[in-house]
Amino acid sequence: MKFSKIKDNDIANGIGITMSLWTQGCPHHCKGCFNSETWDFKGGKEFTNNDLQYIFDNIDKNNIQRNLSVLGGEPLCSQNIDGVIDLCKEFKKNYPEKIIYLWTGYVFEQFNELQVEVLKYIDVLIDGKFEEEKRNLSIMLRGSSNQRIIDVKNSLINNNVIIYKL
Ligand code: SF4
Repeated sequence: MKFSKIKDNDIANGIGITMSLWTQGCPHHCKGCFNSETWDFKGGKEFTNNDLQYIFDNIDKNNIQRNLSVLGGEPLCSQNIDGVIDLCKEFKKNYPEKIIYLWTGYVFEQFNELQVEVLKYIDVLIDGKFEEEKRNLSIMLRGSSNQRIIDVKNSLINNNVIIYKL
């Protein structure tokens, strides 16, 4: 998995404060994307155990409680997904009470087998590509109104998409 940056005290991508990781590489190329520097699969850096340790070392630094957000780029494309699964699995093993938010351009109902695997570890999924004609900057955690904030645990239990209550 490659990533472009890690932000320690992010207040824009989750509820409260998060450690946020932007993966590198995106196959979707949505028109009007605000993050096109993350498209290039040749850019960014390989995510290593040192980066994982950095997240763990900072997750509760100075007694500030942080959750984890995984953004892109595209975390769930074939180039990044194995590393994202490993990250989310390891994170939940160490911090089962913390929330993992994940943004993807793919749509929940069309996930492949590996993409379904990541759902075991995350809590909140924001799905769907950015659609410029549906751009709306007043809706929380999303850039366009087609995107959904999904309660992953409840959706898996009900075998149907359940929207996350903010
Ligand atoms: S999925 Fe996200 S990062 Fe990729 S092109 Fe669309 S808006 Fe940009």
